[in-house]
Amino acid sequence: SRPIVAIVGRPNVGKSTLFNRIAGKRIAITEDTPGVTRDRIYAEAEWLNKYFTLIDTGGIEPASEDIILKQMKRQAEVAIDTADIILFLVDGKNGVTSADRDVAEMLRKSKKKVILACNKMDKFVDEGNIFEFYELGIGDPVSISSTEALGLGDLLDVIIENF
Ligand code: GDP
Ligand code: MG
Repeated sequence: SRPIVAIVGRPNVGKSTLFNRIAGKRIAITEDTPGVTRDRIYAEAEWLNKYFTLIDTGGIEPASEDIILKQMKRQAEVAIDTADIILFLVDGKNGVTSADRDVAEMLRKSKKKVILACNKMDKFVDEGNIFEFYELGIGDPVSISSTEALGLGDLLDVIIENF
């Protein structure tokens, strides 16, 4: 069966934007039941003839700040349980947060393959920020911009190399 790649990360880092970029327009996100939000969204994706299942573990994010960390930890657990590869997305503009550190620790302990991607690197001029992400202990961050579609080919190359 196809490898499963799960995107995890704080709300607002760009998980859904990246998911839609990779999944393309083939995906229609719909609600099964009015008022009930899905917490995971799936797509079949392909890069260089390698097929995989992509999961946005963020689904539809909660608005309330106080449950964000709890929610992130649950999403990371889902990813650890179901994914072959975890794509850990951080905000390259914002820098490292304590929630990023907590999730990074969970992911490191899981021994799963984790790829760190620094999103919102829209101009690739401020690469200086990217070095602080080495402290997460996940290895080399891949710089991307999901809105500008920069670095996505490099990221997909890294993903399929890990299958
Ligand atoms: P999620 O909560 O992690 O799913 O994040 P979203 O995909 O909903 O994105 C949150 C906000 O960040 C939206 O306003 C996006 O347009 C914006 N965003 C996502 N990717 C990028 C990016 O690469 N650059 C910039 N500047 N904004 C981005
Ligand atoms: Mg989202």
